[in-house]
Amino acid sequence: MSLGEFELIEQYFRRPAEVRRAARGDVPLGIGDDAAVLAPPPGRHLVAALDTLVEGHHFVPGSPPESIAHRALAVNLSDLAAMGAEPAWFLLSLTLPRADETFLERFARGLLDLAETHQVALVGGDTTAGPLAIAVQALGTIAPDVALTRSGGRAGDLVFVSGTPGESAGGLRLVLDADAGAHLDAGQRRRLIDRFHFPTPRVALGQALVGIASACVDVSDGLADDAGRLARFSGCGLRIDVERLPHSAELVALAGEAGARRLVLTGGEDCELCFTVPRERAAELAARLDNVKCQVTCIGELTGEGGLQLHDHGVPVQIDTAGYDHFARPGSSGKT
Ligand code: ADP
Ligand code: MG
Repeated sequence: MSLGEFELIEQYFRRPAEVRRAARGDVPLGIGDDAAVLAPPPGRHLVAALDTLVEGHHFVPGSPPESIAHRALAVNLSDLAAMGAEPAWFLLSLTLPRADETFLERFARGLLDLAETHQVALVGGDTTAGPLAIAVQALGTIAPDVALTRSGGRAGDLVFVSGTPGESAGGLRLVLDADAGAHLDAGQRRRLIDRFHFPTPRVALGQALVGIASACVDVSDGLADDAGRLARFSGCGLRIDVERLPHSAELVALAGEAGARRLVLTGGEDCELCFTVPRERAAELAARLDNVKCQVTCIGELTGEGGLQLHDHGVPVQIDTAGYDHFARPGSSGKT
């Protein structure tokens, strides 16, 4: 690389010390030494997650660098959110074909903007030459024994989902196919493409669910798959009432009612949370959500029987919910 590793990090990944100090006081030693020193609050447990994004598998070649960076951090923050953790720090492994300064400048902006939004500090990483790939390890903390898991749901618990899943997959369709959605207006296109490039990790929601949700999972492989996973881990079945699924006008404009419904159930990479709450605590949930600016929709319930059942106004329906793989190619699953 023309630009040395050290210069690269200095130049692009270290915002001024005042900004970093204002953000967090729990990084006695950050970027620059052999390893970072972190000071978790006494009595809290660490929560760790790592996700890797490889060009052509997890993001479209030629994606805006801000989006690649945003998504690499967002999926990790979403994993921590699904545990109910408070995110604190992250490390970045960056594999670059060459030190392209425009790319780096834009990548760092996307990364540090999202980091600042959630007050998480970049405390270290690694930089190597090779095919474009980004791995982020996120670290957060949580009180002992309260982390949300996939396995705590019970038959009768209500199932909820945040936001409007499916929009990210709709946006991807527009990004991949220049002819798709020709009838959409500019605002509709922008909304869907933005949801793909810049999904919102539900960090505040995850923390608000601690102590009330019985189980939680983040929606990365599609709502049907991930909700089904939560149900299976909880030893339950799952009924989704499809008429209650969150409705995105933009998604319906793109794909029609039936197509939108299928995208809601199967589209991945939304960074939404799917969680369960005991029925008798639903009112308490509503009160807690007053302080969280995020739409939450009840979409069904855990059942005693195994498997996923889809109902439309109480009538069982068949919808193919196999999550589809946008980057499918021989030898790659494309999924994270
Ligand atoms: P080492 O040879 O000990 O692994 P490096 O030269 O790889 O050290 O890294 C020097 C410092 O820069 C370390 O503190 C490391 O955490 C940090 N660093 C390297 N790459 C990145 C990156 N992509 N993002 C943030 N910090 C990085
Ligand atoms: Mg290194």
